[in-house]
Amino acid sequence: MTRKYLDYETLEDGRIARITLNRPDARNAQNRGLLVELGEAFLEAEADDEVRVVVLRGKGSMFSSGHDMGTKDSVAEYTPGPGQHPSYTMQGGTKVGAERLMLQEWHYFYQNTLRWRNLRKVTIAQVHGEVYAAALMLMWACDLIIAAEGTRFADVVGARLGMCGLEYFAHPWELGPRKAKELLLTGDALEVDEAHALGMVTKVFPLDDLDEQTLEFAKRIAKLPSMTSLLIKESVNQSVDNMGFYNALQACFTLHELNHSHWAQVHDNRMPAALPEDGVPNWRDAAPVVPALKDKARAASPQS
Ligand code: ZN
Repeated sequence: MTRKYLDYETLEDGRIARITLNRPDARNAQNRGLLVELGEAFLEAEADDEVRVVVLRGKGSMFSSGHDMGTKDSVAEYTPGPGQHPSYTMQGGTKVGAERLMLQEWHYFYQNTLRWRNLRKVTIAQVHGEVYAAALMLMWACDLIIAAEGTRFADVVGARLGMCGLEYFAHPWELGPRKAKELLLTGDALEVDEAHALGMVTKVFPLDDLDEQTLEFAKRIAKLPSMTSLLIKESVNQSVDNMGFYNALQACFTLHELNHSHWAQVHDNRMPAALPEDGVPNWRDAAPVVPALKDKARAASPQS
Protein backbone atom coordinates (compact mmCIF):
# COMPACT_ATOMS: atom_id res chain seq x y z
CA MET A 1 0.00 0.00 0.00
CA THR A 2 1.34 3.40 -0.97
CA ARG A 3 1.09 5.94 1.76
CA LYS A 4 1.47 9.67 1.41
CA TYR A 5 3.28 10.52 4.61
CA LEU A 6 5.30 7.45 5.48
CA ASP A 7 6.94 4.35 4.07
CA TYR A 8 6.31 0.82 5.31
CA GLU A 9 8.61 -2.07 4.50
CA THR A 10 9.48 -5.49 5.86
CA LEU A 11 13.06 -6.70 6.21
CA GLU A 12 14.89 -9.84 7.30
CA ASP A 13 12.43 -12.29 5.76
CA GLY A 14 9.54 -10.30 7.08
CA ARG A 15 10.65 -10.44 10.71
CA ILE A 16 11.25 -6.72 10.99
CA ALA A 17 8.78 -4.07 9.87
CA ARG A 18 10.20 -0.60 9.39
CA ILE A 19 8.10 2.55 9.29
CA THR A 20 9.76 5.72 8.01
CA LEU A 21 8.06 9.06 8.55
CA ASN A 22 8.40 10.71 5.17
CA ARG A 23 7.73 14.43 5.45
CA PRO A 24 11.32 15.67 5.53
CA ASP A 25 10.41 19.10 4.17
CA ALA A 26 8.07 19.57 7.13
CA ARG A 27 10.61 18.00 9.50
CA ASN A 28 8.21 15.09 9.86
CA ALA A 29 5.64 17.25 11.59
CA GLN A 30 2.62 15.18 12.54
CA ASN A 31 -0.43 16.28 10.62
CA ARG A 32 -3.58 14.26 10.99
CA GLY A 33 -2.98 12.32 7.76
CA LEU A 34 0.40 11.19 8.99
CA LEU A 35 -1.04 10.03 12.31
CA VAL A 36 -3.81 8.11 10.58
CA GLU A 37 -1.30 6.43 8.28
CA LEU A 38 0.95 5.68 11.23
CA GLY A 39 -1.91 3.98 13.03
CA GLU A 40 -2.63 1.88 9.94
CA ALA A 41 1.03 0.96 9.58
CA PHE A 42 1.37 -0.12 13.22
CA LEU A 43 -1.78 -2.22 12.93
CA GLU A 44 -0.55 -3.77 9.69
CA ALA A 45 2.63 -4.84 11.47
CA GLU A 46 0.63 -6.11 14.43
CA ALA A 47 -1.59 -8.22 12.18
CA ASP A 48 1.40 -9.76 10.38
CA ASP A 49 2.40 -12.98 12.14
CA GLU A 50 5.84 -12.92 10.55
CA VAL A 51 6.75 -9.57 12.07
CA ARG A 52 8.58 -9.73 15.40
CA VAL A 53 9.92 -6.20 15.75
CA VAL A 54 8.74 -2.83 14.43
CA VAL A 55 11.24 0.02 13.87
CA LEU A 56 9.97 3.60 13.63
CA ARG A 57 12.30 6.25 12.19
CA GLY A 58 12.13 9.60 10.40
CA LYS A 59 13.51 10.67 7.04
CA GLY A 60 15.56 13.84 6.70
CA SER A 61 17.29 16.03 9.23
CA MET A 62 15.34 15.00 12.29
CA PHE A 63 13.04 12.33 13.69
CA SER A 64 10.04 14.64 14.08
CA SER A 65 9.33 18.22 15.05
CA GLY A 66 6.06 17.37 16.83
CA HIS A 67 2.49 18.14 15.94
CA ASP A 68 1.94 19.99 12.68
CA MET A 69 1.18 23.56 13.64
CA GLY A 70 0.08 24.76 10.24
CA THR A 71 1.67 23.40 7.07
CA LYS A 72 -0.52 23.56 3.98
CA ASP A 73 -1.40 19.87 4.28
CA SER A 74 -2.46 20.32 7.86
CA VAL A 75 -4.52 23.40 7.11
CA ALA A 76 -6.20 21.61 4.22
CA GLU A 77 -7.26 18.82 6.55
CA TYR A 78 -9.20 21.33 8.61
CA THR A 79 -10.82 23.39 5.87
CA PRO A 80 -13.32 24.72 5.09
CA GLY A 81 -13.97 27.02 7.96
CA PRO A 82 -11.50 28.79 10.22
CA GLY A 83 -13.12 27.19 13.24
CA GLN A 84 -12.02 23.84 11.91
CA HIS A 85 -8.35 24.54 12.33
CA PRO A 86 -6.78 23.06 15.45
CA SER A 87 -4.77 26.19 16.18
CA TYR A 88 -8.01 28.12 16.37
CA THR A 89 -9.45 25.65 18.77
CA MET A 90 -6.37 26.11 20.90
CA GLN A 91 -6.54 29.89 20.71
CA GLY A 92 -10.25 30.40 20.69
CA GLY A 93 -11.84 27.17 21.73
CA THR A 94 -15.09 28.82 22.72
CA LYS A 95 -15.85 29.08 19.00
CA VAL A 96 -16.01 25.34 18.72
CA GLY A 97 -16.13 24.26 22.31
CA ALA A 98 -13.73 22.47 24.61
CA GLU A 99 -15.53 19.25 23.82
CA ARG A 100 -14.42 19.29 20.21
CA LEU A 101 -10.78 19.78 21.04
CA MET A 102 -10.88 17.24 23.85
CA LEU A 103 -12.31 14.56 21.58
CA GLN A 104 -9.94 15.38 18.75
CA GLU A 105 -6.92 15.21 21.03
CA TRP A 106 -8.14 12.10 22.79
CA HIS A 107 -8.52 10.32 19.48
CA TYR A 108 -5.56 11.54 17.45
CA PHE A 109 -2.98 12.36 20.11
CA TYR A 110 -3.75 10.35 23.23
CA GLN A 111 -5.61 7.12 22.61
CA ASN A 112 -3.70 6.26 19.44
CA THR A 113 -0.37 6.79 21.24
CA LEU A 114 -1.49 4.56 24.08
CA ARG A 115 -2.65 1.95 21.55
CA TRP A 116 0.79 1.94 19.92
CA ARG A 117 2.43 1.61 23.33
CA ASN A 118 0.39 -1.56 23.81
CA LEU A 119 1.06 -2.95 20.32
CA ARG A 120 1.43 -6.74 20.27
CA LYS A 121 4.95 -6.46 18.86
CA VAL A 122 8.23 -5.17 20.22
CA THR A 123 8.74 -1.64 18.91
CA ILE A 124 11.94 0.36 18.53
CA ALA A 125 12.11 4.11 17.96
CA GLN A 126 15.17 5.04 15.90
CA VAL A 127 15.71 8.75 16.48
CA HIS A 128 18.16 11.40 15.31
CA GLY A 129 18.49 15.15 15.09
CA GLU A 130 15.78 16.81 17.11
CA VAL A 131 12.93 15.09 18.91
CA TYR A 132 10.55 17.84 19.89
CA ALA A 133 7.26 17.95 21.76
CA ALA A 134 4.80 15.43 20.29
CA ALA A 135 7.72 13.58 18.71
CA LEU A 136 8.49 12.52 22.27
CA MET A 137 5.11 10.82 22.46
CA LEU A 138 5.79 8.72 19.37
CA MET A 139 9.20 7.80 20.68
CA TRP A 140 8.01 7.03 24.22
CA ALA A 141 5.24 4.81 22.90
CA CYS A 142 7.96 2.46 21.63
CA ASP A 143 9.53 -0.20 23.83
CA LEU A 144 13.14 0.71 23.08
CA ILE A 145 14.85 3.86 21.86
CA ILE A 146 17.98 3.85 19.70
CA ALA A 147 19.41 7.34 19.21
CA ALA A 148 22.12 8.89 17.09
CA GLU A 149 24.91 10.83 18.72
CA GLY A 150 23.92 14.47 18.93
CA THR A 151 20.19 13.82 19.26
CA ARG A 152 18.37 16.38 21.38
CA PHE A 153 15.03 16.02 23.12
CA ALA A 154 12.76 18.82 24.28
CA ASP A 155 9.16 19.46 25.22
CA VAL A 156 8.79 23.15 24.49
CA VAL A 157 5.00 23.34 24.76
CA GLY A 158 5.31 25.03 28.16
CA ALA A 159 7.58 27.71 26.77
CA ARG A 160 5.90 27.96 23.41
CA LEU A 161 2.22 27.41 24.04
CA GLY A 162 1.83 27.93 27.77
CA MET A 163 0.83 24.29 28.06
CA CYS A 164 1.54 21.90 30.91
CA GLY A 165 2.92 19.16 28.70
CA LEU A 166 1.76 16.77 26.03
CA GLU A 167 -1.48 14.87 25.68
CA TYR A 168 0.35 11.61 26.47
CA PHE A 169 2.02 12.73 29.69
CA ALA A 170 4.72 10.12 30.15
CA HIS A 171 7.34 12.68 31.19
CA PRO A 172 7.72 11.72 34.89
CA TRP A 173 7.94 8.05 33.97
CA GLU A 174 10.52 8.57 31.25
CA LEU A 175 12.64 11.27 32.89
CA GLY A 176 11.99 11.03 36.63
CA PRO A 177 9.81 13.58 38.44
CA ARG A 178 12.41 16.30 39.05
CA LYS A 179 13.92 16.25 35.58
CA ALA A 180 10.41 16.27 34.11
CA LYS A 181 9.61 19.46 36.02
CA GLU A 182 12.88 21.09 35.01
CA LEU A 183 12.48 20.37 31.31
CA LEU A 184 8.82 21.34 31.19
CA LEU A 185 9.30 24.55 33.19
CA THR A 186 12.30 25.71 31.16
CA GLY A 187 11.76 24.19 27.71
CA ASP A 188 15.43 23.25 27.79
CA ALA A 189 16.68 20.39 25.64
CA LEU A 190 18.00 17.11 26.96
CA GLU A 191 21.21 15.92 25.30
CA VAL A 192 21.39 12.30 24.22
CA ASP A 193 24.11 11.32 26.69
CA GLU A 194 22.06 12.56 29.63
CA ALA A 195 18.97 10.86 28.21
CA HIS A 196 20.94 7.63 28.03
CA ALA A 197 22.19 8.06 31.62
CA LEU A 198 18.58 8.59 32.75
CA GLY A 199 17.58 5.31 31.11
CA MET A 200 15.28 6.96 28.59
CA VAL A 201 17.52 6.04 25.66
CA THR A 202 18.51 2.41 25.14
CA LYS A 203 21.60 2.73 22.91
CA VAL A 204 23.53 5.54 21.23
CA PHE A 205 25.34 5.13 17.89
CA PRO A 206 27.05 7.47 15.41
CA LEU A 207 24.54 8.89 12.95
CA ASP A 208 26.22 7.21 9.98
CA ASP A 209 25.78 3.80 11.61
CA LEU A 210 22.31 4.37 13.01
CA ASP A 211 20.28 2.46 10.40
CA GLU A 212 22.61 -0.53 10.42
CA GLN A 213 23.06 -0.68 14.18
CA THR A 214 19.34 -0.36 14.81
CA LEU A 215 18.66 -3.23 12.42
CA GLU A 216 21.32 -5.36 14.10
CA PHE A 217 19.72 -4.64 17.45
CA ALA A 218 16.26 -5.43 16.07
CA LYS A 219 17.56 -8.71 14.62
CA ARG A 220 18.81 -9.80 18.07
CA ILE A 221 15.37 -9.24 19.55
CA ALA A 222 13.65 -10.86 16.59
CA LYS A 223 15.47 -14.11 17.44
CA LEU A 224 13.47 -14.50 20.64
CA PRO A 225 10.33 -16.60 20.42
CA SER A 226 7.50 -14.14 19.86
CA MET A 227 5.62 -15.50 22.88
CA THR A 228 8.62 -14.71 25.07
CA SER A 229 9.20 -11.21 23.78
CA LEU A 230 5.52 -10.34 23.95
CA LEU A 231 5.22 -11.54 27.53
CA ILE A 232 8.38 -9.65 28.54
CA LYS A 233 6.86 -6.50 27.08
CA GLU A 234 3.54 -7.21 28.70
CA SER A 235 5.12 -7.97 32.11
CA VAL A 236 6.89 -4.64 32.15
CA ASN A 237 3.89 -2.72 30.83
CA GLN A 238 1.52 -4.32 33.30
CA SER A 239 3.97 -3.61 36.14
CA VAL A 240 4.16 0.04 35.17
CA ASP A 241 0.39 0.20 34.74
CA ASN A 242 -0.04 -1.20 38.25
CA MET A 243 2.37 1.45 39.52
CA GLY A 244 -0.13 3.98 38.25
CA PHE A 245 1.05 4.78 34.74
CA TYR A 246 -2.30 4.34 33.04
CA ASN A 247 -4.32 6.22 35.65
CA ALA A 248 -1.78 9.03 35.72
CA LEU A 249 -1.96 9.35 31.94
CA GLN A 250 -5.73 9.60 32.11
CA ALA A 251 -5.62 12.25 34.84
CA CYS A 252 -2.96 14.31 33.08
CA PHE A 253 -4.86 14.25 29.79
CA THR A 254 -7.73 15.94 31.65
CA LEU A 255 -5.33 18.57 33.04
CA HIS A 256 -3.99 19.13 29.55
CA GLU A 257 -7.50 19.86 28.29
CA LEU A 258 -8.08 22.22 31.23
CA ASN A 259 -4.96 24.09 30.13
CA HIS A 260 -6.30 24.37 26.57
CA SER A 261 -9.62 25.66 27.87
CA HIS A 262 -7.83 28.35 29.84
CA TRP A 263 -6.06 29.71 26.78
CA ALA A 264 -9.21 29.42 24.73
CA GLN A 265 -10.92 31.81 27.16
CA VAL A 266 -7.96 34.15 27.42
CA HIS A 267 -7.60 34.46 23.66
CA ASP A 268 -11.28 34.58 22.86
CA ASN A 269 -11.18 38.15 21.58
CA ARG A 270 -7.69 38.02 20.22
CA MET A 271 -7.95 35.37 17.59
CA PRO A 272 -6.40 36.24 14.25
CA ALA A 273 -9.05 36.89 11.62
CA ALA A 274 -7.46 34.47 9.19
CA LEU A 275 -4.42 32.31 8.80
CA PRO A 276 -1.42 34.14 7.38
CA GLU A 277 -0.48 33.25 3.84
CA ASP A 278 2.21 30.78 4.78
CA GLY A 279 -0.33 28.89 6.83
CA VAL A 280 1.61 29.17 10.05
CA PRO A 281 -0.72 30.12 12.89
CA ASN A 282 0.35 33.39 14.41
CA TRP A 283 -0.71 32.58 17.92
CA ARG A 284 2.49 34.13 19.22
CA ASP A 285 1.44 37.53 17.95
CA ALA A 286 -2.03 36.96 19.32
CA ALA A 287 -0.77 36.13 22.78
CA PRO A 288 0.03 39.43 24.51
CA VAL A 289 -0.91 37.96 27.87
CA VAL A 290 2.26 35.94 27.95
CA PRO A 291 4.92 38.32 26.64
CA ALA A 292 7.76 36.52 28.38
CA LEU A 293 6.68 33.24 26.88
CA LYS A 294 6.23 34.90 23.51
CA ASP A 295 9.90 35.82 23.26
CA LYS A 296 11.00 32.45 24.47
CA ALA A 297 8.66 30.83 21.99
CA ARG A 298 10.16 32.72 19.10
CA ALA A 299 13.60 31.56 20.18
CA ALA A 300 12.50 27.95 20.54
CA SER A 301 10.05 27.75 17.61
CA PRO A 302 10.98 24.29 16.41
CA GLN A 303 7.85 23.40 14.55
CA SER A 304 6.88 24.20 11.05
ZN1 ZN B 1 -3.30 19.47 23.26
